[in-house]
Amino acid sequence: MPANDIAPITQDFLTIPRKERNGPVNLVGLTREKLRETLINQGTESKKARMRASQIWQWIYQWGVRDFNAMTNLAKDYRTSLTESFVIGIPEVVGRRASEDGTLKYIVRLAGGHEVETVYIPETDRGTLCISSQVGCTLTCSFCHTGTQRLVRNLTAGEIIGQVMLARDDLGDWPRKGVGMGERPRLISNIVLMGMGEPLYNFDNVRDAMKIAMDGEGISLSRRRITLSTSGVVPEISRTASEIGCMLAVSFHATTDKLRDKLVPINRKWNIDALLNALREYPKASNSERITFEYVMLRDVNDSDEDARRLVRLIRGIPAKINLIPFNEWPGAPHRRSTKERIGKFADIIYKAGYASPVRTPRGEDIMAACGQLKSATERMRKSRREIEMEAQR
Ligand code: SAH
Ligand code: SF4
Repeated sequence: MPANDIAPITQDFLTIPRKERNGPVNLVGLTREKLRETLINQGTESKKARMRASQIWQWIYQWGVRDFNAMTNLAKDYRTSLTESFVIGIPEVVGRRASEDGTLKYIVRLAGGHEVETVYIPETDRGTLCISSQVGCTLTCSFCHTGTQRLVRNLTAGEIIGQVMLARDDLGDWPRKGVGMGERPRLISNIVLMGMGEPLYNFDNVRDAMKIAMDGEGISLSRRRITLSTSGVVPEISRTASEIGCMLAVSFHATTDKLRDKLVPINRKWNIDALLNALREYPKASNSERITFEYVMLRDVNDSDEDARRLVRLIRGIPAKINLIPFNEWPGAPHRRSTKERIGKFADIIYKAGYASPVRTPRGEDIMAACGQLKSATERMRKSRREIEMEAQR
């Protein structure tokens, strides 16, 4: 992770109460291995540590239990010792808004008081949870509301997986004893890392959290039901394939470097050619069928027939689906949404070239929960022009 792309730790971080930093260890977000080590350090007999870790893991991630005293297959004394040393903590929901279309937006407060947003999108055949990986974003894509927010910090693995857990709490999506897994629909059947932040600038924490989400003894989501969206952090793409192996979406949005430099400024660091080279390797390396190319439709900016043809030429040879996203407006946004007719014509060219080209129906617009509209209430501060320029040049 290029450290200089992350804004310096701010005063806000320093305001985390000391007690929280030195207090009991939170078990949520630890990998299995770390959980085992942590138990040994606390005094669990090392011969038994693997089994204990597995038991605790199942309580936390399979059943959603947060109280050690409810872990009935552990001896009472042992439960007491766990209570003294550890907590099972997830971020707090401080706001919940429901859209007319059923979309739910959670305002989630992290340690230190920062907030991120998590969005649940129910559909007929599935339910998708859109989770955040950073408070704000260091990048400054011109069409994205999150990009106007100062980055405060990366989320921890616990805060990332914690978003899945808090949504499962709210939706009542934890399994119930006696009800078989296949007997009830999972409300959260898919996860997309498309909330606030650039997940590949917080690689290790995102990886650890997704490993927890995929673990068969817990939340148990297939890697094919997890999609990570990146603006194009090229050096981390092969690691995403080998260390996470989930589905990949890429925020493409432009077909020339000149335009992409402006819309997705990370392009100045890793241009379209470099990005496409990394993407060509991804499906093989991760054994996934295809990559999703996200393309936000901006009126008179990137939506011509010529753009559509160029797009098809560029991605030739890459197994792909192209997701057209009508631009979602936010206060002060410098773009407008392409017309329906234009989006239709653009989609047609792509479809005729042999690619699926679904147009994403905006969800949750009335509660500012649609793609690119997320921005936490505590951080309305706009980045200065100078900051944006400096970040773009890095
Ligand atoms: N940082 C990552 C993931 C978060 S953004 C990334 O950029 O890929 C999730 C998706 O929403 C991206 O494809 C992004 O380009 C898109 N998006 C951002 N702002 C938008 C807006 N205002 N309207 C529509 N889509 C937007
Ligand atoms: Fe960051 Fe993604 Fe928004 Fe760009 S689109 S500013 S990378 S969150």
